Amino acid sequence: MITLVYRCGHKQEVSDDFETPICPICGERQVGRVTAPPPRFRGVATGPHCTEALTVGTVNLAPGGPLLKR
Ligand SMILES: [Zn+2]
Repeated sequence: MITLVYRCGHKQEVSDDFETPICPICGERQVGRVTAPPPRFRGVATGPHCTEALTVGTVNLAPGGPLLKR
């Protein structure tokens, strides 16, 4: 969920795919501030928001042996 703070000061919790910001209390359309939760990654990533290191595995793409051009 994302928190919108309109210029009027009212707050609204919205989903990621929210499209039309209108204050449900007074009708203000200008958003003053947006607070979103930190992103969560699946897979291999590095950066300040990563809290867990994933081990890199080996994927065998040719289990029957090397692929030879014929
Ligand atoms: Zn408002």
